[in-house]
Formats: sequence, structure tokens, C-alpha cells
Amino acid sequence: NNTLDILIVGGGPIGLACGLEAKKAGLTYLIVEKGTLVNSLFNYPLHMTFFSTSDRLEIGGYPFPSIHAKPNRNEALEYYRRVADTGALNINLFEEVTEIVPEDGLYLISTSKGRYRARHVIIATGFYDIPNRLGIPGEELDKVRHYYYDPHFYYKQKVVVIGANNSSADVALETWRKGAEVTMVVRDGELGRIKYWTKPDLENRIAEGCIKAYFKSRLTEVRETEVDIQTPEGKVTIANDYVMAMTGYQPNFAFLEKVGVKLSDDIYRHPFHNPETMETNMPGLYLAGVVCGGMETHIWFIENSREHAVKIVKHIVGEQQAKT
Ligand code: FAD
Repeated sequence: NNTLDILIVGGGPIGLACGLEAKKAGLTYLIVEKGTLVNSLFNYPLHMTFFSTSDRLEIGGYPFPSIHAKPNRNEALEYYRRVADTGALNINLFEEVTEIVPEDGLYLISTSKGRYRARHVIIATGFYDIPNRLGIPGEELDKVRHYYYDPHFYYKQKVVVIGANNSSADVALETWRKGAEVTMVVRDGELGRIKYWTKPDLENRIAEGCIKAYFKSRLTEVRETEVDIQTPEGKVTIANDYVMAMTGYQPNFAFLEKVGVKLSDDIYRHPFHNPETMETNMPGLYLAGVVCGGMETHIWFIENSREHAVKIVKHIVGEQQAKT
């Protein structure tokens, strides 16, 4: 019988946590990941530091020692690789799940490489693959970026950073420190959710005028060599090489809807799930990790969503025991 107890979509930290929990409970499982192991973390900025301390990024009870208060991207990649090895996780990499169809009380799962049958499916697909669009002319130009990797690239470049949360703050400070000329365009009247140790640094750079910031403003058009900014004082046009649109990301709603998961009617598009069991409106199909937040991508993170793995496996085991 090649029917799995659980197929887990996504090999991020929470997908891995689900695999470890399933294994502990003696269930058969497979994690299917469309990229490399912990693909979102791999695509984070090269020099990023987590806002969480390392103990809060731990999964499956494996310790994550770090000599820094907050680990960096490289340490986290090292950790999750070691966990996948030591935990001997069943994981297929570079295989994308394209379809999940219920059939006779099971799920048929199609991927870019094959087909599987599973009694339960856990969707742990995160939100880092689809950036929120600006919806302005010129957005399609190659100089408009939604992902940021290495500040060196922006040396002596005129960079506009859109947004006022953590990612925008990091991009503005890092690129300015590596020689970029940085202008921030902020929709609200003040800076947003920024790590408490980063915020004063940015506030002081703005106060000094090293980093220019337009508040209550928005970018209205991007052209090859300049951008237009709508400010409270009227339209401003400035010379520009790169636009870093750090405007957040969103879960793959089209995928969730295709599978049959209901979304809330409001702007948050919360995917329906029972918070006790994490089961969706589809029996035997669960959500885990940051995908659960819908457009509110900041409410779940590793620390508070790793327990989804425990809840789900407990529910599955409880159901199986009830049947026998
Ligand atoms: P992800 O890590 O996004 O994993 C989802 C996985 O699913 C991805 O690997 C993706 O490739 C895969 N996938 C998607 N669709 C498919 C498909 N159809 N088929 C197969 N695979 C698929 N959180 C913290 O707790 N602490 C922090 O300090 C922290 N810092 C952050 C810094 C940055 C810059 C960002 C962007 C986020 C940060 N977060 C932090 C949030 C963090 O991203 C999440 O908490 C964490 O990645 C969530 O894990 P996850 O497994 O739910 O989702």
C-alpha cells in the first residue's frame, strides 16, 4: 500500500516541523518542496539577522546553538540542514505540488514530477513567493526589485526604498552604509514595525539627512532614470537607478482556492481553518505556518506557528485511534 498518512506541501521550517512530528507519531509522510530546503530562508537578504533568538527557531526538539543573541541566515540554513539530516526526514526537493484533489476519502496529489495518494495533506507553503504589487506605471522595469540580497550591488546607486517596516529599514540602512544614495518613500506619517534595535539607527540617519525620507507619500511612476513621488507638498521627480519595493508578500491564494480552501471575504483573505486542529473546510486537509495569516503575514512566524505541527499530528492520531 503506497498511500501516505500525510503529504506535506512545503519544506520551510514549519513543513519540516510537521515531518518531524509525523515521524515521532509513527506515521508515514513525505515533504514535497518546490525549491531547495527552507527555500524562503535561502532567498533572504545575505546578511540578515533573525529577530528571534535561536531557541525560538528550534523545531522537533533539536537544539539550535548560536553564539550570537540572534542567529543569522547562514546559521539558520546550517541548522535546518542538520535537522533534516539528523531527523532523516523524507523530503523531495525541487518538486512543485500543482494539484490536490479529494477522491474516495483520500487526496490525490499531482506534482511537477509525479503523483501521490495521501490520507491527509498539510499545506505549509508560506508567503514569500508572491510580492505585493505597487500597481503603478513602470513597475515591470527590471530596476524595480521586490527581493533584496546583497548591499554591495547598490554602491554609488540612487536607490528608492518603498515601505517603512523591517525589510525597508534593513535595505535602507545596509545600502546607505555600502555607499548608495537612499531615499525612502513612506505611505504613513511615521516608520512602521521595525526591530527595536534598528529603529533608532534609522531615525537618526533620517534626522541627520543621510537618508532622505518622504512621509505620507507614495511612488506614482517609475522610469528608466527617474521616479515620481506624490508628497503632501506636491509631485517630486528625482533621479533614480533602483527601486526596492519592500511592500510585503502574500500567500498563493490562487493555489489555496484551487485546492478548495475557503478564504474570508474581507481584505485579509484568511484561509479558513479550525484554530484548535488547523483543519480547513476540507476534511483531512490542514494548514500550518505563516500561510495561515492570509494578507496579515506578520501575525505568524516560526516561534508561534511551530506548534501547528503538534496540533495537526495530535488531531490525525486522535482520529485514527477513534476509527480503530
Ligand atoms: P516558508 O519558510 O515560507 O516555507 C514555505 C515553503 O513552501 C517554501 O520553501 C516554498 O518554496 C514552499 N512551497 C510553496 N509553494 C509550494 C508548492 N506548490 N509546492 C511545493 N513547495 C511549495 N520568522 C521568525 O520566526 N523569526 C524571524 O526572525 C523572522 N525573520 C524574517 C525575516 C525576513 C526577511 C522574512 C521575509 C521573514 C522572517 N520571518 C521570521 C518569517 C519567516 O519567514 C517565517 O516565520 C518562516 O519562513 C515561516 O515558515 P513556513 O514554513 O511557514 O514558510
